[in-house]
Amino acid sequence: MLAGPVVAHLQSFFLRAFLNRRLKAEPPHRIPPPMDSSSSSSAAPAAAAAAEDAPPATEKLAVFWHEGMLAHDAGRGVFDSGHDPGFLDVLDQHPENADRVRNMVSILRRGPIAPFLSWHSGSPAHASELLSFHTPEYIDELVQANANGAKKFCAGTFLNPGSWGAALLAAGTTLSAVRHILDGHGKLAYALVRPPGHHAQPDRADGYCFLNNAGLAVHLALDSGRTKVVVVDIDVHFGNGTAEGFYRTDSVLTISLHMNHGSWGPSHPQSGSVDEIGEGSGLGYNLNIPLPNGSGDVGYEYAMNELVVPAIDKFQPQLMVFVIGQDSSATA
Ligand SMILES: [Zn+2]
Repeated sequence: MLAGPVVAHLQSFFLRAFLNRRLKAEPPHRIPPPMDSSSSSSAAPAAAAAAEDAPPATEKLAVFWHEGMLAHDAGRGVFDSGHDPGFLDVLDQHPENADRVRNMVSILRRGPIAPFLSWHSGSPAHASELLSFHTPEYIDELVQANANGAKKFCAGTFLNPGSWGAALLAAGTTLSAVRHILDGHGKLAYALVRPPGHHAQPDRADGYCFLNNAGLAVHLALDSGRTKVVVVDIDVHFGNGTAEGFYRTDSVLTISLHMNHGSWGPSHPQSGSVDEIGEGSGLGYNLNIPLPNGSGDVGYEYAMNELVVPAIDKFQPQLMVFVIGQDSSATA
């Protein structure tokens, strides 16, 4: 369910060529921090030494982020249940917690690809922007839950004080990343956001997700004149919310690679099976690729080369949105 973006998979599948080219062309002799006036983090070491080894700003990967997204606290309990059985000294931190994203930020700021990134601050989405993907009734439900303080929407999915603000930032930060592309400032942008979004359907929350960030990104592209957009989701769980939102249109090709977990209840009625291929004018524009557990890099590479890339080549999209959950990389 961890639909947050992941650099490892970006490197594996989408950024490999970009990074290889950069690393080969200009190997960094040291690791300068990506200093940017829009950065509000204090994590980056103070090194004004600008990076003569780093690529020019226009060639860097634009990362969109806002630390306000750390305010979402999904709670503690037994795994993701929020339940305290009363006999544990230490309750589990919810799997979708702020610390994991803190480390993603620190890796990007101080890790080996830091010289190749530029940082951009996200901002909250306006409520009206959410209606491109979500129903007014559902948005009202979220607003009301926030006004009331907290609500459990479904298994593992808790909106607590601070969560709504973080969700609006996640949506808005994703939209900022898309605008960066649509406005011609670059060809690749990365929105590092939480809470995640790919399980959120037009009318319901699901799987730790409240607002479908990728779905909102697609609608912004369509509203800006793009006519064909593809979504590729490599999170280990089925991107059911995004698929549902575009199930009946031929303007958006949704592709999801995932474990074969099937439906997991009323909040997630979709199965993710190969026979869910879209409806009406969307028939043939949803591609589900369930993979056996343990498929590994070879399995993913095969699926990419034999199914995903040919489907994208045939569709000829004008914009691609990748949903990069990292939980498919688990080795345990
Ligand atoms: Zn997941």
